[in-house]
Amino acid sequence: MKTSFPVEKFGNIETPFYYYDVELLKETLNVALQEASKYNGFNIHYAVKANFNPSILQIICDAGIGADCVSGGEVKAALNAGIPASKIVFAGVGKTDKEIAESLDAGIFCFNVESLPEIYAIEELASERSVTASVAIRVNPNVAAHTHANITTGLAENKFGINYEQLDEVIDVVESCKHLSLIGLHFHIGSQILDMNDFVTLCNRINELQDMLQEQRNMLLPHINVGGGLGVRYDVPDECPIPDFANYFATYAKHLNLREGQQLHFELGRSLVAQCGTLFSRVTYVKSGTRKKFVIVDAGMNDLLRPALYDAHHCIENVSANVGEEIYDVVGPICESSDVFDKDIKLPITQRGDIIAMRTAGAYGEAMSFGYNCRELPKAVLSTDL
Ligand SMILES: *Cc1c(COP(=O)(O)O)cnc(C)c1O
Repeated sequence: MKTSFPVEKFGNIETPFYYYDVELLKETLNVALQEASKYNGFNIHYAVKANFNPSILQIICDAGIGADCVSGGEVKAALNAGIPASKIVFAGVGKTDKEIAESLDAGIFCFNVESLPEIYAIEELASERSVTASVAIRVNPNVAAHTHANITTGLAENKFGINYEQLDEVIDVVESCKHLSLIGLHFHIGSQILDMNDFVTLCNRINELQDMLQEQRNMLLPHINVGGGLGVRYDVPDECPIPDFANYFATYAKHLNLREGQQLHFELGRSLVAQCGTLFSRVTYVKSGTRKKFVIVDAGMNDLLRPALYDAHHCIENVSANVGEEIYDVVGPICESSDVFDKDIKLPITQRGDIIAMRTAGAYGEAMSFGYNCRELPKAVLSTDL
């Protein structure tokens, strides 16, 4: 299948802009929900940080999906979109008092806690309000996910979560806090993971941990949260517009020993929203260097940071031309040498004014855009707006 964009309707839209295929987004959410519903107690939360565009959040809320937030701003964005507080979880190593207080006041479902000082802070703020905060301990399972070093999070050297050696003490502390209720364990090993064996490794670690907690403490917690991380195919967006959710959930169903009545929570970000988004830009100039040809587009690393930050490759297409072939570096206008979208890629003969699509940009695209060089933030256009 080749996605065709309604380019003829783009005429007056100022580039660069993000385009979201609402139909594909809804279909992706449907498939994810359908596959999860094949198993008892599987719940999906959307990782808001992947894309907090209000229209996208609205569609996700309407599908009945909860939210995974990593800041007070994200909790507010989720609530504003209509996602009920009872479906919101809040993770992050640096939750401030203000963020904790506002989340307590909103009555969110669970805080995924990552350190002892954070636990004391939540206890104090909950006590001041005479409420009980539900917490899940984020455990660092020391799993090396096969992904880019900047997006692996479950290694002992990463800042996230509580290491095994400290877990006993942390559980004791949470249990001694009068205004905390320990309801679960939380894990998140990284992002853009396509090798299901990484998730199998996580399942094995959780099984061992659950056995240990049962033996040593006779402890059975009602919630297990395995985070997100399911990857998408950046290389072949048209062949794989919807990630293999069936295989993903089946992996957990097969390898994770859920106890009677336990609820399993997933925090999917990228896999739900990446493929529905495309960044469109226009070619400002085609410049011939001594050894290279550069396509200079009007989008920059401030609009789509992933290539500069993670060495990510997005499929780049010239949707205005289909004649000939040339090797180009596609670069932005920002005064940074890392403002390069890709090097030595094949495009049809490209000219000033052509429209360039960067595919699979719905996750960590618009959400990471910023105003460096006094640039305006990229606009967003939904397929249903045209
Ligand atoms: C970023 C993040 C996610 C989502 O990761 P994806 O790879 O986008 O699915 C889930 N949980 C936590 C705690 C995160 O930080």
